[in-house]
Amino acid sequence: QGKREGRGTFRVFEDSMDTELRERAALEAELREAVESGEIEPFYQPVVSLPGRDCVGFEVLARWRHPTRGLLGPNHFIAIAEETGMIADLSYRLLRQACRDAVSWPPHLQLAVNIAPQQFQDRGLAQRILGILAETGFSPQRLEVEITESALVQDLEAARATLTSLQNLGVRIALDDFGTGYSSLYHLRELKFDKLKIDRSYVDTITLSEERAKLVDAIISLGRSLGLVTTAEGIETDASVDWLSGQGCDFGQGYLFGKPMPKEEVDSMLKAGAILQQDAPGIPAKAR
Ligand code: C2E
Ligand code: MG
Ligand code: MG
Ligand code: MG
Repeated sequence: QGKREGRGTFRVFEDSMDTELRERAALEAELREAVESGEIEPFYQPVVSLPGRDCVGFEVLARWRHPTRGLLGPNHFIAIAEETGMIADLSYRLLRQACRDAVSWPPHLQLAVNIAPQQFQDRGLAQRILGILAETGFSPQRLEVEITESALVQDLEAARATLTSLQNLGVRIALDDFGTGYSSLYHLRELKFDKLKIDRSYVDTITLSEERAKLVDAIISLGRSLGLVTTAEGIETDASVDWLSGQGCDFGQGYLFGKPMPKEEVDSMLKAGAILQQDAPGIPAKAR
């Protein structure tokens, strides 16, 4: 009897494995189609200067406008795209669309795009990005590429080559999610970034924990002493803005200033004059 039960349990397990594999394969196929048919679209989250809170640009964040499941965030598909090698295709299409959207926005508005670690190892990356900039007429000076430290751990020399060729085009490089990697100081020593983005996990606790606040203060000082500008991500309260501004953090991003939104919403904000049309400071090209 025990034996039969055991087999039964195994069968159930096998079936659920089967289902999981089938679901995964279906999702992959669906994602491939979605990428090709343009269902993955850029959303834009405002980045503001501190303390003035002027919009200086947007981070481009991928969203899947799924025909039946609604709007899906990156946690539903970026990992799959990376594992299956679709990420490069997805990113180039997203960048092309973002450049087309933003090319008619006031020229002081910058775009920041996320590039996956494996793409950063690709020696053709700068050339591909340059091609998209040329094709869309979007100026390299208005583009910032965000990478995480996992982009640097595989082959530092390849990463250095990519970083340098992008910077030579006039594109700035931001180190994203700073403070969550293993070897932050090592990478700051080895590579010349333009910006540090302080991870949300630090920012959302600064007004609650004195230790976290001290760490954020130290990151801002570190950035400044290396000639890098700093952006705090995940700002949700006025108290955080006041504190970060006081410590000399240059830029902020978070739900307090705006959630990621579709192009149409940016367009209507621009029309309504809710975003300063000119004369905003832009991101200083420090330390090059
Ligand atoms: P990230 O690059 O660190 O982007 C910031 C994330 O924090 C975004 O999540 C944004 O919506 C969220 N966020 C910003 N402010 C707040 C806030 O005040 N409160 C809270 N709770 N969240 C806030 P999202 O859009 O879900 O993206 C998650 C991650 O997915 C991104 O983290 C990035 O690593 C990745 N990602 C997004 N788009 C792309 C893409 O086109 N390519 C690649 N390779 N990765 C992408
Ligand atoms: Mg980012
Ligand atoms: Mg980040
Ligand atoms: Mg983050």
